[in-house]
This record gives sequence, structure tokens and C-alpha cells, in this order.
Amino acid sequence: MTTTFAQFRQRANVAIKDIRLQKALDTATDNFIRARNRALAELPNADSLRDHFKAIRSATLGQLAHHLETFERNAVSAGAQVHWAGDGTEACEIVVEIARRHGVKLATKGKSMATEEIHLNEALAEAGVEAVETDLGDFLVQLAGETPSHIIAPAIHKTREQVAALLSREAGRPLSADDLSALTAEARRILRERFLTAGMGISGGNIAVAETGSVVLVTNEGNGRFVTSVPPVHVAIIGIEKVAPTWDEAAVWLSLLARSTAGQPLSIYTSILTGPARADDPDGPEEVHVVLLDNGRSQLVGTKYEEVLQCIRCGACLNVCPVYREAGGHAYGSPYCGPIGAVLTPLLFGLEDYEALPHASSLCGACKDVCPARIDLPRMLLELRTDEVTEGVLPWRERKTEEGAAFVLRHQKLMRFVSAAVRLAQRPFVRDDVLNLPGPLNPTPGRQLPGLAKHSFREMWKAGELEDKG
Ligand code: SF4
Repeated sequence: MTTTFAQFRQRANVAIKDIRLQKALDTATDNFIRARNRALAELPNADSLRDHFKAIRSATLGQLAHHLETFERNAVSAGAQVHWAGDGTEACEIVVEIARRHGVKLATKGKSMATEEIHLNEALAEAGVEAVETDLGDFLVQLAGETPSHIIAPAIHKTREQVAALLSREAGRPLSADDLSALTAEARRILRERFLTAGMGISGGNIAVAETGSVVLVTNEGNGRFVTSVPPVHVAIIGIEKVAPTWDEAAVWLSLLARSTAGQPLSIYTSILTGPARADDPDGPEEVHVVLLDNGRSQLVGTKYEEVLQCIRCGACLNVCPVYREAGGHAYGSPYCGPIGAVLTPLLFGLEDYEALPHASSLCGACKDVCPARIDLPRMLLELRTDEVTEGVLPWRERKTEEGAAFVLRHQKLMRFVSAAVRLAQRPFVRDDVLNLPGPLNPTPGRQLPGLAKHSFREMWKAGELEDKG
């Protein structure tokens, strides 16, 4: 997939015209923001906790290799098998090979952005393994043949009528959109059967705790526990940046993750998975595999983009972003959308393929304000824009326009001449102070811009028109 300027505009335009989608996005993101603000306000020390967390993440990334090796050593001691995957292809091959070895035909999957990133479902399908999503939102998105449109609420774009239609099709009988209990009961019935027959469970991992070799999994639906404890084989796929050296660091992480995600003191289910089932355990997998996924992450360590690896995928930056709230997640053309997606996607998958994303931001700074790790996303968006110019990625029309604008802005007399000329040229197109340029000349279709003011600031200043206005 790619996201050129034209593609982003086209997808965003479709989303902006979809009134139902706009309403769904507004309602869901407003609820998330309110819950997050309330939960953080209840903490006496939220600001210092966030500072502390930033320091923890930064120090951990400073010794990433050491912590990952500690994690591997302790996970292996606990009976797990640890695999290192340099890229997505390698990670898929590892999982497919485990499935083949066990003759797996059906795998249940918990929520995992890493598996979306590497297109694991497609790789499994090619190997004859059906992978069923079991997070309710992901399950609905899979039934619809779509991709998630929010990091933590994958079906945020679906209305209850659309959900009822999808589940009715799956159930083979009509289900009412007004009976939410019946809809969830049907999803539960379908998934329960899959949980009990799957040969392999696949999950992501929110945290890899080095000191005990444990994988921490956070869910609100309980599906994660079915995926990781019912099938005989469990495979967890985790980005290498998700390591916490000790449980002290993991505790801070969990406390901020749950609050920033859905405004909870702690998520409903926090599972700690350390190796396979012991002899006296009543249940649990016989075999546990942890795949540590690099896929471009290690090349960011020590660079001006290292900070992006501090992300814990809470989704808070999406909810406050004015661009995400209008354009929706699918406009980004990546599993990672919103402000974090606009930075992470070009870094992991190539700036030349995702040229539009560093520009999918108003640079208002709201994302940095809410981020539990205080990640400076606006700074990195600007860095990426600079890289586009230095690496020649920007389309020549865009580049020439910006070079022209920079030249004019640097020369005062020329600036005055150009603004006077534009003011004159716009006259036939300005009505009620709004610029109405005809089709191909309009740089902002679907949005009306005001015309240039009749007099420049400098002219008004000289004429003393501004004095009374303070
Ligand atoms: S960048 Fe910050 S706010 Fe956005 S998902 Fe990551 S941790 Fe959450």
C-alpha cells in the first residue's frame, strides 16, 4: 500500500462526506478523551508520572540490546522459545513454520498491531491456515474484509446497523441492530466455537518484562486469555521496543496505558504469561513461542527518530488529532494511523511510499500534550518533511511551490509586490470576503478560503488602523 498526496486527499474526502462516519468518529473520540482526562485527573501525580515514564522509556531504549537479551534468557529459562525476526517476512515464516509443524488449520488471534504490520493473516492463509480475529472490533473488521481504523478501537467506523448486517450474514439469520445483547451473544457463540477448536493461538504483547521473561497482555474482552491458554500452542509477536527491564517499570507502563487508552485505572484483563503450562497447572499451552520483531525498529535507535519507539500504542494521540478525527483511520493507508501513524509509517515502510503522511497534521501539538510518554510527534513530523526535501521525495510541483514561497518571503519588496498583485488578481473571484476559484484552480476543493485582506498588516499599521485594537 502507498499513501501519496492524491490518495490521502481522495480517501479523506470520502470520509469527510460520510456523515455517519463523522458522527461515529466524533462520539467515540470524544468519549475516549473525556475518560482519559478524568482518569489522569484522579492521579495526584499524573504529570510527574509521565515525566518518570518518559525517562524510563528513554533509558530502556538506551540499552535495548541488553534488555532484550535478558528477556530472551529468562523467557527460555521459563520454557518459552524465543525467535528473532529481522523483518515481516521472516516473522511470518517463523509463525507459518510453527503452524506447519503442528498441523494447524485454524488459529485464533488476539488483538495485535504487529501482526497487522507484517500481514500475518495473509501469510497464514497462503499456507492453508485460517486465522480468526477474536477481539470483537477486529472480528467485525475481518468479516467486512476491511482493515482496522483505530489502534484500540478497530471498528470505530462501523455503525450498529452495519455490525448487525455482518453478524446476520455470519449467523445465517436476521439480527436486529437494536438488540445489542443479541448481537454480542451471537459474536460470542461464533467465537467460542473457534476458541475450542483452534490448534494455535496468536497474540501480540503489550510489554515484554526482561527480569522474568514474561509477556504482558492487556485486553478488555477476555479473548486474550482464550487465545493464550486454550490452544496447545501459543505464539506472541512483539516489537523489540516493547521491553521493560523490571516489573517496577512495567507497573508504571500499565498504569499509564490503561488510563490513556480507555480511562481505566487498569484494563479489565491484565495477563502475565511466563512460559508454557507447568505440570500442576490446570490448563495453558504446551508450547510458547515469542517472536521479537525488528522490521526497521533497530535502525531508528540512536537517531533523531528514536523517540518514536517510546510509543505504547495507547491511541490517545489519535483521539485529539483534528486530522484523524475528520479523515478517519483508513485515509492513512497503514495499520498505524493518526499522529503516531503519520510518523511511524514512513519510518518503518518508507518515506517515498507514504509521502503524504508527514503532512497529515496541523502541527497543533495536541498529540504531544496527551501522550503518556510525552513523545514529540510534531517535531518528528517536521523532521520528516525536511527529509522529504533533502531526499528529493517531495513531488516537484510541491517542491517548486515551496521554494518559490520561501524566495518571496525572504525578499520584502518582492513580497509586497506579489501580495498587491494577488489582491488585484483575486478580485473577480471574491464574494463576501470568500475566495471562489473555479474547479482546477482551487487548491482546496471542498473548503472555502477567505480572500486576501484588502490592506496588508503593514499598510494598516502605517495608517494607524490597528492602534485602537490594542
Ligand atoms: S504516540 Fe503517545 S499518545 Fe500516541 S499512541 Fe503512542 S503512546 Fe499513545
